[in-house]
Amino acid sequence: MRLKRIPRGSATAPRLIAAAAREVARADRLGTVIAAAFQIVGATAALGVVAAGKLTFDALLQPDQAAIGLTPALLALAFMTALAGSVGSLQAQQHRLLGERVSQRVWDRVLDTTARADLVTYESSGFATALERVQQNAMTRPFAVTTALLGLTGSLLGVVTLSAVLVGVEPLLVPILLAAGLPAVLLSRWASRTEFSFAHRLTGSYRRRNYLRQLLTQRPYAAELRAFNTTGPLRERHHSLNGEVTSGLRAQVRRRQLIAVLTTVGVAVALTAALLAIVELVRQGRIDLAEAGAAAIAVRLLSGQLNTMFTSIGGLLESAPFLADLDRFVASGPPASPVGRKRPLADRVALHDVSFRYPEQDRPAVDSVDIEIRAGEVVALVGENGSGKTTLAKIAAGLYEPMTGTRHWDGAAAPASDVRASVSVIFQDFVRYQMTLRDNIVISDGDRPGSDDAAVEVARQTGALGAARALPDGLDTMLGRDLDEGVDLSGGQWQRVALARALYRDTALVVLDEPTAALDPRAEYELFTDVRAVLGGRAALLISHRFSSTRMADRIYVMDDGRVVECGTHDELMARAGQYAELYSLQSAAYR
Ligand code: ADP
Repeated sequence: MRLKRIPRGSATAPRLIAAAAREVARADRLGTVIAAAFQIVGATAALGVVAAGKLTFDALLQPDQAAIGLTPALLALAFMTALAGSVGSLQAQQHRLLGERVSQRVWDRVLDTTARADLVTYESSGFATALERVQQNAMTRPFAVTTALLGLTGSLLGVVTLSAVLVGVEPLLVPILLAAGLPAVLLSRWASRTEFSFAHRLTGSYRRRNYLRQLLTQRPYAAELRAFNTTGPLRERHHSLNGEVTSGLRAQVRRRQLIAVLTTVGVAVALTAALLAIVELVRQGRIDLAEAGAAAIAVRLLSGQLNTMFTSIGGLLESAPFLADLDRFVASGPPASPVGRKRPLADRVALHDVSFRYPEQDRPAVDSVDIEIRAGEVVALVGENGSGKTTLAKIAAGLYEPMTGTRHWDGAAAPASDVRASVSVIFQDFVRYQMTLRDNIVISDGDRPGSDDAAVEVARQTGALGAARALPDGLDTMLGRDLDEGVDLSGGQWQRVALARALYRDTALVVLDEPTAALDPRAEYELFTDVRAVLGGRAALLISHRFSSTRMADRIYVMDDGRVVECGTHDELMARAGQYAELYSLQSAAYR
């Protein structure tokens, strides 16, 4: 899958804002309604402050003509001011909740996309970069968008109502204040563009820096880093990436500071012009002092609302492209593949003339290969590192689609999802789930009705139960120390647990990629002298560098540079005196 190049500033501002509004409303309808209600109360309270201000000035300056006395007017002013202020704090808390809900929705969309992506997509660098950028923004942007959107709604309401008040006093005051708006909107559009391209430029540095931070902080790396004393050099790389980020950020901050100053100056000039206009109107006797006082309050409030409005538009324009980026990321993911149907294996799985090349690689990793695995057989793949064994196993397991050739299940082409549902896999870099021993085993087959008996049985066969017996809570023991509550196992014990997981999934074919690399010789011997009993009639595709484990296979395929170069039983291959015989002799010579 290829990610499209991301065009900048292609969507219009209203469209971006509408998209952001939709995103927030979809995340939490009730929360959005409540937040909008706060905005309306806030705008009404601002209007109330102006009205109460006018009543207060009337009572002060013309007590005989005033509608109400000074004390009630002052009380009204105090109440309205308090209401306007407290709505602000209530809003801030409401935004926190809504921001979290928006963030949850954004994460759900990201996780839906990553779950749908097939392995090839996942391993391509374009996907990884887009994912990193979306993930990083998924942390902060949803809250910024929510706050900006609600700020925009509230301030728009405020601007409309306060403008209406000012039009009553002197219509000229409104265009003077609004004039400050146009450059501010243009400036925020500029800010948004610089922000997006800035984030784009720095994604690579952020990714590398995050990776180094993981290396330098996470437990699995601690031993090797200390043994090789590599923390120093890695810290230096981290330091130089910090430098890249800082210099990029410094330039961006300067740009944003300039934009902020220009915006503020524009608003301040408009405010001063409006206040001067009020003074002039009083001098000319066109409005009285009470009206002038109320107008001054309205101008001050309006200028505040305008400021919020421009900041919100700026914030939205800055964050909305990231939502558009998220949309593109989600749209670029492959469609959800149907859940596969588990198939029994009556005859054989056959790969015919199968080739596969990784994206951005010149040479195929698997090149015109024919192999077959008959029901109940143990078939081994051997060959030097990089000869294509793992890639071929992934094709057999339905994780990669062959680029040419066919993959037949019992004589018919089977969709990859069906193949995945019908094959169990354990890889060299199997997952050490930081969960209970039971979860570590049964997680491979969510459809199977939960019963401890089956989990105990596979744990016994693979020797994982030996480890379990020593564990304080048996199957309920938490494994791993990453979450700081579990029991850590040795590499070999983890491998037995992974094997138990592969066998727990009741499928007709098991792909075992170096399943015993971490086992001690006795454990490996025990497992392989009786591997057919452990497999219980299942067919197995076994990759191993230990010829002692593969010699009992029904058929051995020898791979070299993506091709199958020899095939036969151990005895046949030894008699052939080819590559297998050479590798076998090399390995046994080491023991003699
Ligand atoms: P083996 O299992 O025999 O060691 P692999 O199937 O892992 O071999 O690798 C075969 C070739 O494909 C190697 O040259 C390796 O570098 C390349 N390769 C493996 N995985 C990837 C990947 N995700 N992206 C690009 N190239 C890969």
